[in-house]
Amino acid sequence: MVQNSDKLQSCQINFHLRHAGELKTITLQLEMLRGNIPTLATIKVEGHVMTILGRGYDGRCALCRSLRRKLKVEDIHFTCCCPLEIEDNNSKRRAIIIGSVLFHQDYLEDNKNYFLYHCRARNNPRDLEAHLALGVINEYHGRFSMAVANYWSAYELAPEDNFIVERLGEILGFLQQLLSTPKTLTKENNEPHPEFHQQACASTAPMAIYS
Ligand SMILES: [Zn+2]
Ligand SMILES: [Zn+2]
Repeated sequence: MVQNSDKLQSCQINFHLRHAGELKTITLQLEMLRGNIPTLATIKVEGHVMTILGRGYDGRCALCRSLRRKLKVEDIHFTCCCPLEIEDNNSKRRAIIIGSVLFHQDYLEDNKNYFLYHCRARNNPRDLEAHLALGVINEYHGRFSMAVANYWSAYELAPEDNFIVERLGEILGFLQQLLSTPKTLTKENNEPHPEFHQQACASTAPMAIYS
């Protein structure tokens, strides 16, 4: 499959709505997530298609994944296209790209793994693999400040590791950008957007931009 650069910069969720109430649910869930996951990603809604623009690691994919998880719980139907997720047809497992490395999604989502590594890192502060795994899992879930702490512990143990340096560089760069973004803008981002309801209902409506 050929992907143009524009596609690489966005996640897309295509909603298959059965009734108008589902739009309210989507809007509510999205607003709650925006308050929880730090991101500079921009959300556009055109018809029943939501496009989340960003660089992926900057909270875009964490937000997109969390929203999809909530929608599944709410039994809202959708299809999704994320350039940093790869379906493995042989194993039927989905792989997630973090930095330049692939991780199995079921592994990242299994809380047992998180707590295992958490205990290992606590019992042995020099457990490089544990710090690294915690960093990856926290980054996956959009818990960036915790991911930085984990990656930094790993960095102190293996300062020559390219993956660790890359992850720290990208996340710290994104957080730095977030820090220099005026607070008023961030606050506006988290306010409800009642117009989403109308925009999402009429597929011929002009593109709405939430930023
Ligand atoms: Zn994504
Ligand atoms: Zn459907």
